[in-house]
Amino acid sequence: MARRKKIYEGKAKILYEGPEPGTLVQYFKDDATAFNAEKRATIEGKGVLNNRLSEFFMTGLANIGVPNHFIKRLNMREQLIRQVEIIPLEVIVRNFAAGSMAKRLGLEEGTPLPRPIVEFSYKDDALGDPLVPEEYIMAFGWATQQDMDDIVALALRVNDFLSGVMFGVGIKLVDFKIEIGRIWDNDYMRLIVADEISPDSCRLWDIETGQKLDKDVFRRDLGNLTDAYTEVARRLGVLPTNVTHTTKPTLIN
Ligand code: UDP
Repeated sequence: MARRKKIYEGKAKILYEGPEPGTLVQYFKDDATAFNAEKRATIEGKGVLNNRLSEFFMTGLANIGVPNHFIKRLNMREQLIRQVEIIPLEVIVRNFAAGSMAKRLGLEEGTPLPRPIVEFSYKDDALGDPLVPEEYIMAFGWATQQDMDDIVALALRVNDFLSGVMFGVGIKLVDFKIEIGRIWDNDYMRLIVADEISPDSCRLWDIETGQKLDKDVFRRDLGNLTDAYTEVARRLGVLPTNVTHTTKPTLIN
């Protein structure tokens, strides 16, 4: 492949300059990190699965009218996306208590919440992505009141869509994180879903058994992460054909 300009390298993805202005190529690595990158590993096949799964969710969202950055998948690990200006927030939606919320409030993991709760963390690795109130977000100019209203509306639509899709394959959507980007059509600014949607940024529990099928498998050493993500992809019918456990070749007589 021709040399391309690297725009940004994060913990799980690399962004390259795209073929046209306003586009980028998003490359999914096999690297996994947790606890603000204190725990790291390379997990074979994770990038391929997340590329496919993010494509599946973003395409579905576009089909129900939720704007997002996805344009098309290019190959096993890369997708073409719209270049956006990322708002420096992690937008978290929770349906059941888990992770940091369960800890902060002393709730048992899995406790149903009275309604979906949207919360925001300021994206800053050095600070450990601290939880921030809307007051901070507006005071520091990261987003306006109008932006916040739009972001909450987008996040709740993503939540309803993802919860429904997951429920259809026997999985409970406990919580997830999305990122939002700004794009401009001339002087008109719009907010769209960006980054990725994958088991790296969701909590997914099997409805029957409670088995975890997300990055907590890695965070908490619960087993093989690729197997968990493969199970999600298999249930959704988006398993790539040539990754991990393929069947043996058969002889044609
Ligand atoms: N999350 C994420 N990236 C982060 C922090 C959280 O994708 O940097 C996701 C996480 O996978 C979970 C949800 O956001 O689905 C809520 O995470 P929580 O605040 O409970 O944090 P954690 O317990 O993962 O530290």
